Amino acid sequence: MAIPNVKRFRPFCPTCNDTFTLMAVLPNEANVDTYLSEAVARHDHKAFSDAKAAMNKVRVGQQKQVKKK
Ligand SMILES: [Zn+2]
Repeated sequence: MAIPNVKRFRPFCPTCNDTFTLMAVLPNEANVDTYLSEAVARHDHKAFSDAKAAMNKVRVGQQKQVKKK
């Protein structure tokens, strides 16, 4: 099922010192720069760092589980 007009952005959050992925449907007349600066201002830094830590754990786990076929 395709979602129409969803764009992916990678704004940089100076608080997290990292970029985060943002999926959004923006009207054509929307100002992307304004939208992204607002998104960074609203960024949930705690949740982001938790998710990043969890992601790193999964990555390490996957590396350990690599099996030869
Ligand atoms: Zn942040």
